[in-house]
Amino acid sequence: MVPLQSKEMDFLDKAFELLSVGPICDICLGRRFAKLGRGLTNAQRGRALRIVYAMAKGEEPREPERCWICNGDLERAPELAKQAFEAVKDYEFRTFLFGVHLSPYHEAVEEFLKERFPSPWAESFQRDMNRALGQAFEEVLVSQGRSATVDFHHPQVRFTVDLWKGGIDVYIAPAYFYGRYRKLVRGIPQTHWPCRHCGGKGCERCNYTGKMYPTSVEELILPAFLEACRGEGGHLHGAGREDVDARMLGRGRPFVVEVERPHRRTVDLEGIARRINREAAGMVEVLDLRPAPPDLVRRLKDLKADKRYRARVLFSAPVEEEAFRRALRGLVGEIHQRTPIRVRHRRADLVRIRRVHEAKGRLLSPTEAEVEILCQGGLYVKELISGDEGGTHPSLSELLGVEARVAELDVLEVYDDL
Ligand SMILES: [Zn+2]
Ligand SMILES: [Zn+2]
Repeated sequence: MVPLQSKEMDFLDKAFELLSVGPICDICLGRRFAKLGRGLTNAQRGRALRIVYAMAKGEEPREPERCWICNGDLERAPELAKQAFEAVKDYEFRTFLFGVHLSPYHEAVEEFLKERFPSPWAESFQRDMNRALGQAFEEVLVSQGRSATVDFHHPQVRFTVDLWKGGIDVYIAPAYFYGRYRKLVRGIPQTHWPCRHCGGKGCERCNYTGKMYPTSVEELILPAFLEACRGEGGHLHGAGREDVDARMLGRGRPFVVEVERPHRRTVDLEGIARRINREAAGMVEVLDLRPAPPDLVRRLKDLKADKRYRARVLFSAPVEEEAFRRALRGLVGEIHQRTPIRVRHRRADLVRIRRVHEAKGRLLSPTEAEVEILCQGGLYVKELISGDEGGTHPSLSELLGVEARVAELDVLEVYDDL
C-alpha cells in the first residue's frame, strides 16, 4: 500500500475539521477542495469526504438539513432560475450568464473560512452559486423546449442575483448587424443632427423639427431594424462618415446597427434590406446585411481604411493642362494636414500625416476639373484641394499657385476588410 503523502493527509485533516465544527452540505464541503481530482462535482467531493469521515468515526454519513455556509441559498437556485426565466421569456437569446451579489452574511462566512480554514484548493461560494443558477436555468429552458448556453464574454442575457435584497437584475445585450450603405444624394448627414439654434427643442429656424436636416442615413435605416427586432432603441455606427454634402457611392460604407433590448435577434435581413431600399429609394441604399459580433462596433471605429474620392474642383484662374498634370503628380506622397478650420471647434487641433496613393484627373475647362484621389483614411480631401489657408501641405492650390476648391465630392470606395 502506498502511504498517504503529507498533502493528502493535510486535506483530510482540513475536511475532518470542517465537518466537526457545524452542519455543512456536500457542495460547500466539496468546494473547499474543488481543485483536487478531476471530472468531479463539488457535491461528489463533499460526499466522498463525508463518507471517509463517517468511516473513521464509525457513523452514518448524513447530509444535514441546513448548511451554515450557503445558508440554504444553493438550494434556492431552481426557484431563482425560474424567476430569471420569467423576466426574459419574451426575448430571443442563445447565450446567457449569471452573476451573484453576495449578502453581508456570505461575505463574512467567506472571510471566516479563508482565515480559519484556509485551503489552497478552494473555490469561491460565488462560483458554485453561479454554476448552480446556470444549471438550474438550463433545466428551466429545456422544460420550455428552449436552449441556450453560458457565454462568459458576450452573453445575450445577463442576470445578477442579489442574495441579500433578493432581486434579479436583467441585462439584455443589444443585437448587432453589419451592412454597407450607399448615399445617392447630397445633404443627408449620417446621423440625426440636432438643430444648432435650439439644441433639438424645436424653433423657427428648424421649422420646429429640432433638426438641422429633415432626415439622416440613420433615420432611413434604423426603423426597419427596430421593428423587425422589436427593439427599444438603437444606433447606426459608421466606419467614418462622409460630409453631409458628399455622396457615398461604390460598394458603400460599412456600418453596424445596434438594436437595444431586442425581442428578436434572428430576423429576415433580406426583407429589411428590401424595405429600406424601397422606402429610402433615391436617397439611401443598403447592401450586404448580416448579423455582426458585438466587438465589430469597436473594430469599425478603429478602422483606417483607404478611400477613393472623386471631386469636381473649381479654380479661381485658368489652369494649363501641363501645370495640372504636374500638380497632381506632386500630390502623391505624404501630406501634412492640420485639423481643418471647419472642424477645429470640435476636434483636437493637431497635425496629421496621411498618404495620397494616387491622384488623377482631367480638366473639364480651364477653371474646372474632375479629380480622383486614392488616399489613407482620415485625410480631409476638401482641404487637400484648397490648402485650408496653409493648414494642409502640399495641396492642389499650393502646387498650382491658383486657388482651388471642391464644388462636389463623392466617396467612390471604402477599402475595408471587415
Ligand atoms: Zn452549503
Ligand atoms: Zn431649432
